[in-house]
Amino acid sequence: IETKLPKVGTTIFTVMSQLALQHDAVNLGQGFPDFDGPQSLRDALAAAMNSGKNQYAPMTGVPKLREQIAVKTERLYGRKVNADAEVTVTSGATEAIFAAIAAVVRPGDEVIVLDPCYDCYEPAIDLVGGRAVHVPLTLPDFSVDWQRVKDAITARTRVIMINSPHNPSGAVLSSADLDTLAALTRDTEILVISDEVYEHIVFDGAPHESVLRHPELAERSFVVSSFGKTYHCTGWKVGYCVAPRALSAEFRKVHQYLTFCTFSPAQWAFAQVLESDPQHYLDLPAFYQAKRDRFRELLAPSKFQLLPVRGAYFQLVDYSAISDKDDLNFCEWLVREAGVAAIPVSAFYETAPDAKIVRFCFAKNDPTLVAAAERLVKL
Ligand code: PMP
Ligand code: GLN
Repeated sequence: IETKLPKVGTTIFTVMSQLALQHDAVNLGQGFPDFDGPQSLRDALAAAMNSGKNQYAPMTGVPKLREQIAVKTERLYGRKVNADAEVTVTSGATEAIFAAIAAVVRPGDEVIVLDPCYDCYEPAIDLVGGRAVHVPLTLPDFSVDWQRVKDAITARTRVIMINSPHNPSGAVLSSADLDTLAALTRDTEILVISDEVYEHIVFDGAPHESVLRHPELAERSFVVSSFGKTYHCTGWKVGYCVAPRALSAEFRKVHQYLTFCTFSPAQWAFAQVLESDPQHYLDLPAFYQAKRDRFRELLAPSKFQLLPVRGAYFQLVDYSAISDKDDLNFCEWLVREAGVAAIPVSAFYETAPDAKIVRFCFAKNDPTLVAAAERLVKL
């Protein structure tokens, strides 16, 4: 059969997790916590399942959850959104990203993505007949070169995709970045998909510069988030999209037939914890900052050079003092010989730069970080 996705194989996250299992390695590859979300959340899920919340949720999401998302959006970003018309609950951010792309990208349209970028963007663009136009971020700090973005814009540009805090680099966008993006898209038909799944994981006291803080940009944007990241439950696959009424209406046309609705008991559970315990997400920056600092301290005696991390839960390291292998070969060697799984950063690129950088996930309990570091400092 002729494939519609010739460039797609098994994702690097699956490949590395399988190798980690096979070699009994400490898995700092695929990004997921090795601890559970709050007990109150798990109790709320069980309570929802035991009290008849087991049938289809409304297509757009459980009303109480959409309201709580609107409350959080106003509290954190100062934007009043209409919970009925502008918030849609999805089966993870992955579904939201797919639905947003499918809703607005027409055959022949171009979508600007900033490399390195998360792996689910381009296949969605390809499937709807669009074309991803890759603009590299600038090393060493993975900043956006807006002149290059501007140069990449053509009459066919339909969407610019951004991701802050950024996977895999941990870079964050500033309000000046958003101002520049607003200026670039002003008086155009270009829309923005803003992947903000790590919105609550920003370090060193910095605010998360959500597109939802930026009134002009918010008018042309789909803002996507994920409860998997915020509540340490990546396997529940619940996310959401906030977008202005007209964009949400188109988004919902896709969501309606992609999944129709998302797992109802989890929606009730998230609604309850968002309402009763907003402190959970307010405490998240400090929670993950302590893990970042701990992991960096553990790796300090190693030969890895640690790149700065401003958000999300990934540490990039330069391994050029250890090996001259390319990053994929280095990761295969590392999981086999050192017993630690990582992700090669080239997997996030169309054309990877000549850099020797891999990604470790530090969303782990202390003993896991210690066990990994014991192996890594020996190299
Ligand atoms: N975007 C980014 C940048 C991510 O890192 C992830 C999760 N790895 C997703 C989207 C997908 O999130 P979800 O698991 O909620 O589908
Ligand atoms: N988002 C996770 C990461 O970056 C992976 C999720 C997945 O395996 N699809 O590691």
